[in-house]
Amino acid sequence: RFITLEGGDGAGKTTQAERLSAWLGEHGRTVVRTREPGGTDLGVRIREIVLHERGHVAPRAEALLYAADRAHHVETVVRPAVARGDVVLQDRYIDSSVAYQGVARGLGADDVRAVSDWATGGLVPDLTVLLDLDVLVGRARVAAARGDTFDRLESEAAAFHESVRRAFLDMAAAEPERFLVVDASMPADVVQQAVRAAVGPLVGI
Ligand code: C5P
Ligand code: MG
Repeated sequence: RFITLEGGDGAGKTTQAERLSAWLGEHGRTVVRTREPGGTDLGVRIREIVLHERGHVAPRAEALLYAADRAHHVETVVRPAVARGDVVLQDRYIDSSVAYQGVARGLGADDVRAVSDWATGGLVPDLTVLLDLDVLVGRARVAAARGDTFDRLESEAAAFHESVRRAFLDMAAAEPERFLVVDASMPADVVQQAVRAAVGPLVGI
């Protein structure tokens, strides 16, 4: 099974993935926790470029770097794990590219999705959990947790992140059978219960 977590910064994707992974492990499932960008050695190098040289990389080049990371990651990590019968829990996937590069950066949702579909050979998640959160609340959480080398949210306008949030919600509305939308302002335990309720049946728990 292939499960992705999406949402803006500070929505709690990492926390939820950790807890879900622990629960799946307790139930005897083999879990591969991974992320994009940066789920492979090559991806870590691509992540350096896209996150630390942001502003110096042309938007289309940036979109292609995310797609290159994704192509390598899907072929070398995700598909083999799914084929083994593992549960892949992935922080960000194609929907992030559509929201950030396609919509918020204005490259076009359809074009960006087409590039990613080509890059992955059309691999679609069984379930995508969208952790939906007010942009300012997310910003406050990131600032409180800090630990990044620079503050992504403050370096980009709030309008950019509003547009990302809107884009995710629009995608979820367009594909309700793939998406679970969770109000990420709720306590982490409550969010996790909602996530487990959706994941359980998918993995036979
Ligand atoms: O969640 P994570 O720390 O991996 O995301 C890093 C940043 O990369 C996000 O804050 C987002 O701004 C950016 N990103 C992006 N386009 C993607 C994936 C991530 O702009 N496709
Ligand atoms: Mg994160």
